Amino acid sequence: MSDKFDVIVIGAGPAGYVAAIRAAQLGLKTACVDAFVGKDGKQALGGTCLNVGCIPSKALLDSSKQYFNLTHNLPAHGISVENAKVDMATFIGRKDKIVKQFTGGIGQLFKANKVTPFFGKGKLLKGNNVEITGNDGSKQTISATNVILASGSVPIELPFAKFDGKNIIDNAGALDINEVPKRLGVIGAGVIGLELGSVWNRLGAQVTILEALPDFLAVADQDVAKVAKKEFEKQGLTIKLGAKLTKAEVKKNEVALTYEDKDGAHELTVDKLLVAVGRRAYTEGLLADDTGVKLDERGRIVVDEHNHTGVDGVWAIGDAVRGPMLAHKGSEEGVAVAEWIAGKAGHINLDTVPWVIYTEPEIAWAGKTEKELKEAGVPYKIGTFPFAAIGRAVAMNEAIGQVKVIAHAETDRLLGVHMVGPGVSELIAEAVVAMEFKGSAEDLARIVHAHPTLSEAVHEAALSVDKRAIHKGN
Ligand code: FAD
Ligand code: AMP
Repeated sequence: MSDKFDVIVIGAGPAGYVAAIRAAQLGLKTACVDAFVGKDGKQALGGTCLNVGCIPSKALLDSSKQYFNLTHNLPAHGISVENAKVDMATFIGRKDKIVKQFTGGIGQLFKANKVTPFFGKGKLLKGNNVEITGNDGSKQTISATNVILASGSVPIELPFAKFDGKNIIDNAGALDINEVPKRLGVIGAGVIGLELGSVWNRLGAQVTILEALPDFLAVADQDVAKVAKKEFEKQGLTIKLGAKLTKAEVKKNEVALTYEDKDGAHELTVDKLLVAVGRRAYTEGLLADDTGVKLDERGRIVVDEHNHTGVDGVWAIGDAVRGPMLAHKGSEEGVAVAEWIAGKAGHINLDTVPWVIYTEPEIAWAGKTEKELKEAGVPYKIGTFPFAAIGRAVAMNEAIGQVKVIAHAETDRLLGVHMVGPGVSELIAEAVVAMEFKGSAEDLARIVHAHPTLSEAVHEAALSVDKRAIHKGN
């Protein structure tokens, strides 16, 4: 036994590294074990999010948005350039530099907070011991009073469309294409499929998204989803709903697809295929047989409302457990668990976790959708306000979408806020604060919002719940 810690965290994604830092801040002797290997072959902290998820996708979304603005949106401002082009080495290289900056930053934060990093695959053994297997096969065992499992998730692979890293790719592959494909197929119109499909569409790829479900963005508010779908199609994305991929065959650097919809089987040929049909908890090699930690029917680590596994001193957080697979949800669970371990009052409210899709327009929501409220029989009232009537949005030439506020019909308590439009990834924070403070639509309506800003849409939508929006008919 080489060392004894108060806390060992397995996994250094946004759930694990945040848990480790918070535990160390609270005076606990903390280690964090992670196996992720970066593009340079060295240990890269930060997990999926920093290496092949949130951060690199936003870097490419921003670069591709600049190009799309230049070619499609700036002419309306009287600005145009001839022969706009993208240098792919710079496009991908900028993203790689950002990833390196942030993954390296976690290492510095670990140093500053005295978290001991270990590089290798961690396996929980009975008695809160963790066996670490290095890349060279070397083994060492460390132990702790508490172990936090934060092993994250991996992309789901379709058995008939296996990833080959070249023609059939996952999120990591779609963030590292070095030439714009002529035809890109995307399976799954979820968050990842829409974001990465948008990147390559903006650069000129002909993108076709196949989605098995009949509704577009079934998890989102359907008014928001309707606006978004229309805008994405205007941008050139082809979205086929109720279309289930059944076969994918790589032939001479192309992929021949077969998909089925209500009219029968269809064929489609693409140059690359991004399979983005969801992610699953990653627990391979994480648990010795006799630890007592349980997995549910979807392979997720079973935890209670305090992220405890039921095994003394063993906790689990992030994508590896129930709840939305979002970085900030995992991070907040990490903070809460570290605080519970230190005997403090940790806090996590899964009901107010915001969702954001970083497309154009952006989509963001927190709380319940109308459909969920209807199904639960909760009486509600609605206020909406379009960005078309917001001066700032019009001045930006981005007057698309709306804000929708849903409040309880009797108590006026905020139940859900749903947005599609410019800058809504930032605007949603106001709704989350209001909901976390158990606020009402009236509370939002009484707060002074700066003029002219996009946030006025939130204010007016809240006023509109009570049919007193100023800048539209009620
Ligand atoms: P992960 O980030 O998956 O990290 C787990 C880490 O544990 C990895 O480094 C893994 O190698 C390591 N590990 C696993 N098992 C072991 C073991 N036995 N021993 C040692 N190490 C181990 N979420 C957002 O909130 N916003 C976004 O904009 C966003 N964009 C995304 C874009 C893409 C393309 C993808 C794929 C995901 C995106 N997500 C986004 C989701 C987000 O990345 C995840 O929710 C988040 O990374 C989960 O954090 P985690 O710490 O639970 O797991
Ligand atoms: P998400 O889980 O949000 O990343 O979304 C993944 C999407 O992929 C879901 O909306 C699924 O309905 C969709 N999906 C799963 N399997 C298939 C398939 N074989 N063909 C088309 N879409 C699929």
